[in-house]
Amino acid sequence: MILAEERERAGTLLGRARAVLIDVDGVLVAGGLALPGAGEFLRALRGRDFIVSNNSTDTPKTMAEKFLRQGLPVEPRRVSLAGAVMVETIAAEAPDEATFLIAAPSLAAYAEARGMRLTDEEPAPILALARDTGLSYERLHRAARVLHGGARWFVANPDRTHPDADGGPVPETGALMSALAACVPEARPRIIGKPEPGIFLAALAKAGVGPGEAVMIGDNPETDGMGADALGIPKIMVGPRGTVGGVADLLPCL
Ligand SMILES: [Mg+2]
Repeated sequence: MILAEERERAGTLLGRARAVLIDVDGVLVAGGLALPGAGEFLRALRGRDFIVSNNSTDTPKTMAEKFLRQGLPVEPRRVSLAGAVMVETIAAEAPDEATFLIAAPSLAAYAEARGMRLTDEEPAPILALARDTGLSYERLHRAARVLHGGARWFVANPDRTHPDADGGPVPETGALMSALAACVPEARPRIIGKPEPGIFLAALAKAGVGPGEAVMIGDNPETDGMGADALGIPKIMVGPRGTVGGVADLLPCL
């Protein structure tokens, strides 16, 4: 449901936005399945859609392929994912520095394709952390030693968990970050994902617009909401904690 007043506000924001930044879980999909109206919503935006997700295992291409199987059309070049943006950031800022990367194989391949120099040796100047479901104790041990050795520390996203199909917790990158922080308390991570500004700025850069020319659509006030507020990006919050039931309710605004 949507109140008339909120529909008007949303309509104005969506009408004038040059880029519509869209969270994934709880906005476009839930439990891996497309939410009602999600496909129509993306199509109705006619190229103004920009995905902004704290996902740290997919690459823009693998996410676009998963989305297509759900009937959700997205262009990889308009997708900003925390893990991939972390890789893009390091590749741009420190292309010559060796990075000890903890990540899923697909993200590691993306890092190499983007020109990042990967190493499994210690010491290493950079430690980069994304979600790796195959992470071993031995590799966690090595990563702690790399951090202890003074490496600069990038973390894809701060989320401790994301929900399993039955609502139970799936350990996320933030849980791995906590494990490393417990081992090396003096290490200070630079977090790329929401609510930190890095991922929003990456999405705005892909769109070629400023914060005031965009609108953020999310379901989590602490990540989507706070992150958008910090940069002055107007927002429309959907779902149980928002003012709009879901993206299907926004279709009449387009
Ligand atoms: Mg969400």
